Amino acid sequence: MIAELICVGTELLMGQILNTNAQFISKELAPRGIDLYHQLVVGDNPARLTEAVNKALARADVVILSGGLGPTDDDLTKETVCAAMGKPLVLFENEWQKIVGYFEEKGRLVSDNNKKQAMFPEDAIILDNPNGTAPGCIIEKDGKAAILMPGPPRELQPMFINFVLPYLDKRSNHILYSREVRIFGMGEADVAFRLRELFSGTNPTVAPYVKTGEVTLRITARCSCREEGLSMVTPVIEKIRDILGDFVYSIDGETLPMVCHKALIEKGLTLSVAESCTGGLLSSAFIDLPDSSKYFVEGAITYSNEAKIRRLGVKDMTLKRFGAVSIECAIEMAAGMKVRAGTDLAIATTGIAGPSGGTADKPVGLVYVALATNETIMVNGFQLFGDRDRIRLTAVLNALDMLRRNMV
Ligand code: AMP
Ligand code: MG
Repeated sequence: MIAELICVGTELLMGQILNTNAQFISKELAPRGIDLYHQLVVGDNPARLTEAVNKALARADVVILSGGLGPTDDDLTKETVCAAMGKPLVLFENEWQKIVGYFEEKGRLVSDNNKKQAMFPEDAIILDNPNGTAPGCIIEKDGKAAILMPGPPRELQPMFINFVLPYLDKRSNHILYSREVRIFGMGEADVAFRLRELFSGTNPTVAPYVKTGEVTLRITARCSCREEGLSMVTPVIEKIRDILGDFVYSIDGETLPMVCHKALIEKGLTLSVAESCTGGLLSSAFIDLPDSSKYFVEGAITYSNEAKIRRLGVKDMTLKRFGAVSIECAIEMAAGMKVRAGTDLAIATTGIAGPSGGTADKPVGLVYVALATNETIMVNGFQLFGDRDRIRLTAVLNALDMLRRNMV
């Protein structure tokens, strides 16, 4: 089913209000497999609205309109759409009484102008509006439909959810079913290149979303039911796993902290964290999740050299020779933390979050993450980019990624 959206209101064209109705409606249509190929904003002008409605009715099955159902002279949506569809308006006595009642309840006087809000084509489907005076309506003709709703979002949204969606669901014969694959450690371009064959598919489609430091793929099938969707999407996910291997860290929404959290609990391992540049963010990523007490023993923010020495046992000599942002320091931080906390695993971060403090040798964004396990100590260096917040956040994500891959 093809839908088209027309939002009516000069105030939208002037930029006085944001067209949130368009976003709201589009977001609701997408997962239902209703194709929305065009959205339009038209001012309160009958000639231009007539043109827009005619065009929309010619190429879409359903035309959804918002705005212009008020009582004033510039509210012309219903009159214009009905004229374009050749449907004369008649007074719906029942709706008129509801409007009168709505005014009485508020202690306000109903005006004759409000009468036009109770006028509809004889065969219109009326959409109740408990939050305002203007009812919406659906007007059908030659297998097509125009759906008219009032502009105020607090009136439009419940009307859309309660009446319009059920109507659209009845008319449409397919749904969109999607699942999500999350990837860490590979850039979007690289992902797109490796999956180029899958990216060109039309059903299911594979579409990337980039978030700070990671790539998410949404695999979407157009199908008749969830079961069919699952059987179409699952082989694509398998293929992505085959191609990207352990760069894929979760399916259907688990974040990196959740993946580590679950694995730590499952394996019965304990964890401690020593942080410099991430300043508690890494510990927080675990402690944000309920049940982290099952594995999280201790975290230390050792920001100064003195704290690294006193609390973690980093050697003064190491700091003097290699500096706090170094492979050597990261290793001693993780090793020291592991011994002191007595945990199976210890992670340490040290880096230059910026914006100042970088040198040619050690630029802003240089971060070392060390992981001490019961078998070994490993360290990775990362050159991260962005502002201070982003560098610290991506340092945390890289530390989590390292942990997830090496949890023994
Ligand atoms: P109307 O139904 O055209 O009289 O619109 C009444 C009010 O609803 C406007 O003044 C706006 O505050 C709001 N409104 C109308 N259209 C939209 C829209 N597309 N998105 C968000 N708010 C809207
Ligand atoms: Mg208006």
